[in-house]
Amino acid sequence: MLETRIRQRLESFELNGLSRRLLPPAGIDLSSNDYLQFASHPMLRASMASAILEAGCGSTGSRLLRGDRSCFSAIEQRFAAFKGTEAALYFSSGYAANLAVLSTFLEDGDLVFFDRLNHASLIDGMRLGKARKILFAHNEVAAFEHYLRTIRTAGQRFLVVESLFSMDGDIAPLNEYADLCREAGVAMIVDEAHAIGLYGDRGSGLIESTGIAGDTFLSINPAGKALGLAGAFVAGPQWAIDYLMQRGRTFVFSTAPPPSIAAALDAALDLIGQAPELRHRLHWLTSTLRGMLADQGLDIPRDGSQIIPVLVGDNARAVNVAQALQVQGFDVRAIRPPAVPEGSARLRLSVNTGLDETILRGFSSSLCRALSAVGVR
Ligand code: PMP
Repeated sequence: MLETRIRQRLESFELNGLSRRLLPPAGIDLSSNDYLQFASHPMLRASMASAILEAGCGSTGSRLLRGDRSCFSAIEQRFAAFKGTEAALYFSSGYAANLAVLSTFLEDGDLVFFDRLNHASLIDGMRLGKARKILFAHNEVAAFEHYLRTIRTAGQRFLVVESLFSMDGDIAPLNEYADLCREAGVAMIVDEAHAIGLYGDRGSGLIESTGIAGDTFLSINPAGKALGLAGAFVAGPQWAIDYLMQRGRTFVFSTAPPPSIAAALDAALDLIGQAPELRHRLHWLTSTLRGMLADQGLDIPRDGSQIIPVLVGDNARAVNVAQALQVQGFDVRAIRPPAVPEGSARLRLSVNTGLDETILRGFSSSLCRALSAVGVR
């Protein structure tokens, strides 16, 4: 019975253009989150390799048991200083960090205001939390403010948003949220997955560049994107980080990451500090590609982040366009539900510092041709 049920499900994925295939990287990267090309950087490779030779491979246990190492506390302190907070705690993934933060702090009697397009890991964390959930329209400050003024609770209120949205590439109105949260005593939780390393004078993210550090309760900072590694730092006040270490279930009940990652994280933070020109190059390449696509008549804003969604709508068509580009040597992936809302399948282009103007020119013509071939433009 179980097998029949699951086989039917798999067939329906196939029929609806929702079946996924595993496809290792091939061709020019226009889809990864390796925005600064750190994943293959010689400094990160060397620091991780020598740390493995020195410290071994696995950590052998939870941080709360024998899995702790002084290199973890050292990198957490460094990260907290980078972020301008009292403390930070390192998790084995952004997903684990989001589960821990939301399941730990959102208690019975509390209220959580939640952007509808927040990442799956935030959704799952919110589901595990006990607070009453209020979803509001994506990036709509007015909708948030309306609920804030009309729905009461005796408990704590939280706002949960991404600073730069992973599938739409747009930026949250952080200053407006911060004003409302400050005035109403709402604890603001910000996921900086796609902003860490890329925004702000020091490169610590959009919390820095918008100046809302004082109004943010916690930030979640995954290291598998611009930092080129894995894991995530939760940064915030000491008392909150102390509590997360005691009660965050994905921290407590999970083997600590391999200690060698701490050395590589150290190297990544060195590079972020020493090479601001890398993020300037990323922003320049981003506006170059956005400009080329807009010039070709695509509905792409000229201003915006390194994540550029190209809406197709239909699942199978999005896959066809991605495949046509892959055949031409461009590694572009189709994003379909449930990663994005029904009917909004898209290509999620992402810019990285390994690209150049010639590649971008060739790519934008190929993209336009591939879209025309499926009748999208
Ligand atoms: N938050 C956001 C906004 C993300 O895009 C992602 C990863 N796609 C995560 C959290 C999860 O991070 P990780 O991949 O490290 O689990």
